[in-house]
Amino acid sequence: MEKINTTFEKNLVFYTYKNMFEAFINLLFPRTCYACYQPLESAEQIICTKCHLDLPKTNSHLEPLPELRHKFLGKVEVKYAFSYLKFVKGGKIQRLMHELKYRGKQEIGETLGRWYGGDLRESGFSGEFDMILTVPLHKKRLRERGYNQSDCFAKGLSESLGVMWDGSILIRTKKTDSQISKTRTERFLNMEDVFVVSDSADLKRKRILLVDDTITTGATLEACIIALQKADVSEISVVTIAMVI
Ligand SMILES: [Zn+2]
Repeated sequence: MEKINTTFEKNLVFYTYKNMFEAFINLLFPRTCYACYQPLESAEQIICTKCHLDLPKTNSHLEPLPELRHKFLGKVEVKYAFSYLKFVKGGKIQRLMHELKYRGKQEIGETLGRWYGGDLRESGFSGEFDMILTVPLHKKRLRERGYNQSDCFAKGLSESLGVMWDGSILIRTKKTDSQISKTRTERFLNMEDVFVVSDSADLKRKRILLVDDTITTGATLEACIIALQKADVSEISVVTIAMVI
């Protein structure tokens, strides 16, 4: 057998073995689409091509979505309000979000972030933000889960948009109850002073893109925005993976 000399040849051998190894692992533990549970082809990530093409996008970055903007209207100033996907109860996006939040599948958030970051970049939004921040979990919840699902999405967005992200600047000071069954006033009181900006952060005149996983009432994002405004940011936009329709 001939001796392997060049780096190129060594890499070629490495990648051939790597692909064979991955194919072997895939044979033993077939990966399935997180949305429809059909087997995935080796080039497919997180979901199959059919589910990818069928993603229920809101396209809120192409045309402002009134039902999304209305959540902030008359409360806090938001430059852009984006939500990538429509969340329907019992639908495929609920399955994806469940895997991301409760079953450790962080790659779902990162991949969706890269995809949506790509959509935003293609529409000319790369230069619109100085920093990406995430809605934080309470530290007890973060300890239990081991990660913040919004950070996963922010990481993917950051890679595609070429904008830095930081998951530690906003701090959640207390745990909150579910917002769903509360009146508007109760929701506001429940969220009052829940978030603060870290003392060491300098957000002066920064254009912030604030990330959360799902938007329902908008009260959580609203509370974060109030905290950010106190830090003298220049403008705030919001983006979530999904929006409850
Ligand atoms: Zn599928």
